[in-house]
Amino acid sequence: MTCPDIPATPFAIIGGSANWGLRFPEDIDQPGVSVTASDLTFDTPFGPSRDWKIIRFDGSVTADGHPREALYVFSHGTTSGDEIDHEGHRKVFWVLREAGAKRVVALSTSGSLNRAIRAGDLVIASDILELTQTPYSLLPGRLRYDASGKQLICPETSDLVERIAQDLWPEGNRVYGRDAQLVCAHAWGPRLTSPAEVMAYRSMGADFINHSFAPEVTLAREIGACITNVSFITAPFSAYFAPPEVTILGASPAQALGPLASQVALRTIAELPAEPGCICAGLLSPQDPAHRSHR
Ligand SMILES: [Zn+2]
Repeated sequence: MTCPDIPATPFAIIGGSANWGLRFPEDIDQPGVSVTASDLTFDTPFGPSRDWKIIRFDGSVTADGHPREALYVFSHGTTSGDEIDHEGHRKVFWVLREAGAKRVVALSTSGSLNRAIRAGDLVIASDILELTQTPYSLLPGRLRYDASGKQLICPETSDLVERIAQDLWPEGNRVYGRDAQLVCAHAWGPRLTSPAEVMAYRSMGADFINHSFAPEVTLAREIGACITNVSFITAPFSAYFAPPEVTILGASPAQALGPLASQVALRTIAELPAEPGCICAGLLSPQDPAHRSHR
């Protein structure tokens, strides 16, 4: 259903491979969470953005005791039929800017570029490695804003994800929080990373890799929003170097850790303080108007 009005809300969840195979949040056992609208399409200057829902959190489960709503988009907003649409990220963040989104949690699965990070581990990024940045910027002109590359991932939201994950994640799988300082690399995909690419990204300092989080981080900074990730490893480091008949990816996320990762994302949105206690929004700053008016 095409919806002319984008609801105003500071909260958003971006779905991804971590919750593929699950109706989100309907299939997740999370008290106080319901869906108020689904199958929404929003028009953007770049074309329609599909597969949105509005999720309601009852006041009994939120940090401030008041009900809140979050926007949710399926699989990074990059699906349109069966086509891969890299520009979908820009449509998603245009919608989120219109909504006034300030807190974004992005779900994904990842491949490990580090022998110590194993299949099933939950990895919260502290930085990203995306040498080309996004070709789909939302900043209105190069002379209007400075978008910092520091603290691209929100410490306050990340610490909440870590605390909740420590509650929910199975024993035997690790939860890597901010103290691990993990770096998330980016490849557009959909082809999986080659052994040579794994070694290249690893030598550049990355710890894990996926197809979505880095452009989302860049766009979150461009709209002045906080972002963090809920991601778990489905492709262990050693699998990239196994014989070609060995499948890199493990069990389907829906059958493995997908429901838990989904719970982590939902609880994070519910338990975030109403007012951010971080400086992320201030890391997008306007330039001196003289930079463009004096020619
Ligand atoms: Zn923040």
